[in-house]
Amino acid sequence: MTADTWTPERVRTETLPKRDTWTAIKRGLLGRCPHCGKGRLFGRYLKVVDHCEACGESYSEHRADDLPPYLTIIIVGHIVIPLVLSVQQAYQPPDWVQISIWVPVTLILTLLLLQPIKGGVVGMQWANYMHGFHPHGADDDDRTYRGSPGDKLGG
Ligand SMILES: [Zn+2]
Repeated sequence: MTADTWTPERVRTETLPKRDTWTAIKRGLLGRCPHCGKGRLFGRYLKVVDHCEACGESYSEHRADDLPPYLTIIIVGHIVIPLVLSVQQAYQPPDWVQISIWVPVTLILTLLLLQPIKGGVVGMQWANYMHGFHPHGADDDDRTYRGSPGDKLGG
């Protein structure tokens, strides 16, 4: 690596303060600002606030995208499917009983888990300066540092 090669990792490690990923994830899981842990992270159910009411940290550029639903599906599936199979093996109930128990359980678990999981994902992305949280605009998908408006590039 030459001195003028800027990678997102180099920008992250050399110029940006270290952020603790697990602390940020925990705060996000609790619906709190990953930066200060005091302000609310969500305005409505899954709507992330533009900025923290307590510390002013901006969250308008978060890009949780589809990761929270993917993780929620994986977790809920690993809870509900073993329970369905256990009940089936132990009691052999009619299908309508199984359906009338597990469809609501699946919906309720999904709705309960989506917000904390999204909060954890936003916290993880914030702590690692991912996507829109990177102050220089570098991205995980883009290994080229293009500079920020304040940089003097070229001659
Ligand atoms: Zn805050």
